[in-house]
Amino acid sequence: MQETEIVVVGAGIAGLTATLCLQRAGKRVALLEGANRSGGRVRSVAGGVDGTARFDTGPTWVWPRWQPHVQRWLEELSIRPFAQFEDGEAVLDGFGPEVVRQHLPGQDGISRLSGGPSAIVEALKDRLHPETQKFNARVVALENTNDGLHVHLQDGETISCAKVVLAVPLRMIAEQIRIDAIERESLDLMRRTSTWMAQQAKAVILFKTPFWRERGLSGRVASRIGPLVEVHDHSPEHAASGALFGFVGWPPMDRRRDPSALRTAIVEQLVRCFGSEAAQPQDLIIQDWATEPLICSRLDLEEPPEHPEVGPEVLRQGHLGNRLWFAASETAEISPGLIEGALVSGEATANRLLDTR
Ligand SMILES: Cc1cc2nc3c(=O)[nH]c(=O)nc-3n(C[C@H](O)[C@H](O)[C@H](O)COP(=O)(O)OP(=O)(O)OC[C@H]3O[C@@H](n4cnc5c(N)ncnc54)[C@H](O)[C@@H]3O)c2cc1C
Repeated sequence: MQETEIVVVGAGIAGLTATLCLQRAGKRVALLEGANRSGGRVRSVAGGVDGTARFDTGPTWVWPRWQPHVQRWLEELSIRPFAQFEDGEAVLDGFGPEVVRQHLPGQDGISRLSGGPSAIVEALKDRLHPETQKFNARVVALENTNDGLHVHLQDGETISCAKVVLAVPLRMIAEQIRIDAIERESLDLMRRTSTWMAQQAKAVILFKTPFWRERGLSGRVASRIGPLVEVHDHSPEHAASGALFGFVGWPPMDRRRDPSALRTAIVEQLVRCFGSEAAQPQDLIIQDWATEPLICSRLDLEEPPEHPEVGPEVLRQGHLGNRLWFAASETAEISPGLIEGALVSGEATANRLLDTR
């Protein structure tokens, strides 16, 4: 770690991509991750018939037909997309006294990944030099000195380097990392940039079979009464077992107050929409991102979520005399907030940093 030229902070897709690009350019890079795992908002759990299928509790979809950078990285990392299952009718829940079956148009090009988005994380990690990544390394401050940057970790360790890439959601930086002499306007901008999906909770519900498909249902639900506001088929590609996922509509405080009431209400909703076979799921996993201290900021909890837009150029410029760069998905000029944005911001930030002295 002593001879590090560049420190990248945050081992989500953006940080991993930046690290790989910098290593390929011959730089000595340390990747510091505050949690005990890489992936950030990307997470999956194993399950299914033989326990080997992966189910996404973070992102699921990419749109390779419309996302050229995703397409290029999937080819480079040898990851295969497959179509999101959408055949059959959807269920409308809470639009009248009874649930209604109805055809809903699908999304053109919406795809899942073999191995889920975790496959991107694993493939990027596999390409890094061993020893590059340090876990449980939460950065709390950056000190700008005459002879470079000092990166201070929560455990008291300090790492000196020439440049730093903060691949961390911008609001987390503003709230949790003290940066010497950062411009006030940049800090305000970071506070205003919400972290896409950070206050969201996602439920993954596993079944022995995708029984809804036999009844001509796509697994899709649009609900006005919840608790899941949207449900989609999430069965493994070859459907050896069945799975659904849904976005939880209950606000973070309600989810936290009574987790078992939420689970009961989810099962009741699935029975209402898909019949009694839904009453006995093999597993029900709820990932509440609002409780993740390194992802969801205080401001993300206080303010209504906003769909990310392309932010001002200052987010993509060097700071502190080109020593400091930002690289989370929300900083990207293409697909901010999405997986594509994370890939783009990681790669483009590495290139900009390499182009400057
Ligand atoms: C429920 C959900 C569903 C989603 N669905 C989709 C989808 O279908 N399609 C899509 O394209 N996108 C989706 N997204 C968005 C997608 O997950 C993100 O755009 C992407 O994963 C962001 O990657 P990132 O590397 O920019 O940031 P993150 O994944 O947030 O990574 C940041 C990393 O920084 C670390 N960190 C934070 N603070 C510190 C610190 N002080 N010191 C050290 N490390 C720190 C964190 O632990 C984390 O590992 C979804 C997100 C969620 C939560």
